[in-house]
Amino acid sequence: MRTSLAIIGAGLAGLTAGQRLIRRGFHVDIFDKGRGPGGRMSTRRETLAGQNLHFDHGAQYFTVRDRRFAAQVKTWEAQGLVAPWPEAGPQAYTGTPMMCSPLVDMAQATGVRFGVRIDGMVRDAHGWHLVSDAGSFGPYDAAIVAIPAEQASELLRWPAPEMAAVAARQISQPCWTTLVALPAPMPGHPPVTRAQGPVLAWIAHNATKPGRADDNSWVLQSTPGWAQANLALDRETAARMMIAAWRETNGGDLPEPAFSRGHLWRYARSAGSGEGYLWSDSRQVGVCGDWLIGPRVEAAWLSGFRLADAMAPLRTGT
Ligand SMILES: Cc1cc2nc3c(=O)[nH]c(=O)nc-3n(C[C@H](O)[C@H](O)[C@H](O)COP(=O)(O)OP(=O)(O)OC[C@H]3O[C@@H](n4cnc5c(N)ncnc54)[C@H](O)[C@@H]3O)c2cc1C
Repeated sequence: MRTSLAIIGAGLAGLTAGQRLIRRGFHVDIFDKGRGPGGRMSTRRETLAGQNLHFDHGAQYFTVRDRRFAAQVKTWEAQGLVAPWPEAGPQAYTGTPMMCSPLVDMAQATGVRFGVRIDGMVRDAHGWHLVSDAGSFGPYDAAIVAIPAEQASELLRWPAPEMAAVAARQISQPCWTTLVALPAPMPGHPPVTRAQGPVLAWIAHNATKPGRADDNSWVLQSTPGWAQANLALDRETAARMMIAAWRETNGGDLPEPAFSRGHLWRYARSAGSGEGYLWSDSRQVGVCGDWLIGPRVEAAWLSGFRLADAMAPLRTGT
């Protein structure tokens, strides 16, 4: 009989583990509280005066160091799901036509249940049961938790206290993000600015990424320090302050935006515990996510990849 597995979290780590374990014969159910794929690599769609706008909402690009991840990126590139984005640096890649494109593809292949927030996990003689607003799921032979450290420490507190303790030692940095549509192009403005001020760390013209529509969509990201000091702001105020900071860095030259929206990523950049992944053979529960390696897209992928291999090593090939 096939091993049944529940994965909580359909970010890149959870989807990578899920896809790999499906290929090895597991029956996998993946749950995510979000409305659609992406996690911290999500892309937000907005309609403005009949025009569809897309904003990469979290991670803007990623780099590649590990040879296994490099092979994956090559495959995604051949499928048209990622492409180099030289404006962000010589080694920078981004999803195409959206940052979340590789995850959309993986979510379709694995069949994620979106809009389901898992609030509890219980193991009994039959296996793992998940508790959510939408009812309970299970039993499953095994379970993987693939969510940010602070949320994992809560979920794992009772079913796996030693794993919860590893997660509880992590402190992620927040990031305020503001999506902006300008009424007109900004000739002469660089496509990417790594800002130096106390408020903004990043200003990017989303449409300069490969495969995007030629529109006036921009993404601003705050510094971690400014976000930490301003966690309690409402999103309109945060957006207004970030746009004012942008105008200031641009010598006052910035038209009134046609659209703007602020969003607080409370756990934007993980710390990186160094464990890679966590797995308990006796209880058949595992943990993956960027925070077990470092605050990067590649780390999320590697953590999911390594956990899947620890659970079901391949005898030959990859
Ligand atoms: C603003 C920002 C900028 C970034 N910039 C970069 C960058 O330039 N380069 C780079 O490499 N990386 C960057 N990153 C980091 C990168 O996005 C992450 O490292 C990576 O996406 C993490 O993937 P993950 O699968 O570990 O976690 P996530 O993407 O967070 O996935 C976790 C998933 O779990 C779901 N979830 C959480 N709790 C529950 C629950 N109880 N029940 C069900 N589902 C749940 C969430 O909805 C989410 O989809 C950035 C991140 C942010 C936010």
